[in-house]
Amino acid sequence: DNANIFAHFLAVAEQAGDKPFLVENGATVLAFADLDARTGRLAARLQALGGTAGERIVVQVDKSPENVLLYLAAERLGMVFVPLNTAYTAAELAYFLGDAEPAVVVCRPADEAAVRDLMTTGRLVTLGTDGTGSLLDDLPADPVPVALRKAEDLAAILYTSGTTGRSKGAMLTHANLLSNALTLKDLWGWHADDVLIHILPIYHVHGLFVALHGALLAGATVLFHRGFDPAAVIADFARGSVLMGVPTHYTRLTAAPELTPAIAGNMRLFLSGSAPLLAEAHQRFEAKTGQRILERYGMTETGMITSNPYQGGERVAGTVGYPLPGVEVRLRGDADGHGGELAVEGPGVLEVRGPNVFAGYWRMPEKTAQEIRDDGFFITGDVATQEPDGRITLVGRAKDLIIAGGLNIYPKEIEEAIDALPGVDESAVIGVPHPDMGEGVVAVVVPQKGAEVTEDEIRTALEGQLARFKQPRRVIVVAALPRNAMGKVQKAALRADYADLFA
Ligand code: ATP
Ligand code: MG
Repeated sequence: DNANIFAHFLAVAEQAGDKPFLVENGATVLAFADLDARTGRLAARLQALGGTAGERIVVQVDKSPENVLLYLAAERLGMVFVPLNTAYTAAELAYFLGDAEPAVVVCRPADEAAVRDLMTTGRLVTLGTDGTGSLLDDLPADPVPVALRKAEDLAAILYTSGTTGRSKGAMLTHANLLSNALTLKDLWGWHADDVLIHILPIYHVHGLFVALHGALLAGATVLFHRGFDPAAVIADFARGSVLMGVPTHYTRLTAAPELTPAIAGNMRLFLSGSAPLLAEAHQRFEAKTGQRILERYGMTETGMITSNPYQGGERVAGTVGYPLPGVEVRLRGDADGHGGELAVEGPGVLEVRGPNVFAGYWRMPEKTAQEIRDDGFFITGDVATQEPDGRITLVGRAKDLIIAGGLNIYPKEIEEAIDALPGVDESAVIGVPHPDMGEGVVAVVVPQKGAEVTEDEIRTALEGQLARFKQPRRVIVVAALPRNAMGKVQKAALRADYADLFA
């Protein structure tokens, strides 16, 4: 039996016949019937470049159908796929290339000279956005067969988003990816008639695994968007059935005049994850479409961990739902997560165990030993509470916890109080060094369009609402919060910006 996840995709493709797999601007760019031949020849090309099973292939290219094929061809050959965010700079790329030691590197044509200078191992080829690039030159005529892989063999190394510090390479096995994909297929009711609207980047777990694996295992068609244009996405609702997005996508869709209940009516499922979806954003989307977003929670190291119910239960705004079937969670301690007793209701740091949990951090055995306990539970670093029926609510990240005057402060509570004030769009609360308190609470606040808010107003309004030690000592009004492509607020960047505020 071949544990190669690509063998599972191919078995589905063989059943799907002439059906389109990838559709772009109304035209089929890849049919399921062509998946075998196209990936087979591309895998032969990777082999001719020196790629072999178990070796890494680093890919930093723009989103395109060929990029999807490249991922599948790498799995077919048994290589370890290492996709990189296209926003990474040369200095960051140098670190990833040195760390991954790839046998093959694929970059954008325009980056070729710069990337070549940074490489210490492997062969370099290019892939452009419209089927151009040296990767696609000299494709061998004969396909290579699907490589035999064991369950514990690595399928991918995905670097984490770097929200809390330097990105770590999470080693994901074929069994990790397949178990999570099969669980989500059942849980979210994927079927062959589904049509996925794909708007996410494909260098991250959300767009690459959660979205594409769902469609591949169901034999469902994908309406492929290279970027995010709200009007174009809404136009696809008439044909689509499933959308996966990050909270920023939903906020922007809600603001689009084209969005109506009638237009959203054909869709069966709107999913959100990768960053917290504010309860208010959830409610606004429902008011405008009549549909409730299904929020789920996961991470690079584990794939998906919890999900609100698809059927037979309530999708509660502001919560991330229940542990997936086969996935165990528990909460421990009250703060940094490494010590402490098990805490039933929390708040505590969430730990997770299951077939989805990664094989460790690439070339970081000490970090792996710190974060994965002897009994197999992985310490996520996310602080959560759990209701008696098992429902999980995230209250922040352990690294964002503020300790002021020896007291623990959870930023989310303060952010919610600020967001509810008139004229406020959103906020981020951080702790920065303070000579007396250890850390001082700082609120970074974005006013609503056309509204004006001041530091004094916000501080006065919070006086009656929050205990004194939680009240921000400074409020800074800004035009926008720093976010990455997955909609994550970059709190580490904010802490660096305001590090000297109380110095
Ligand atoms: P790094 O580990 O490098 O600091 P990161 O944790 O942001 O970066 P990812 O693996 O991309 O990298 O993101 C996982 C994190 O995203 C989770 O640990 C959690 O904090 C957050 N997250 C994912 N889904 C949700 C959600 N539905 N609500 C709130 N947070 C979420
Ligand atoms: Mg993380």
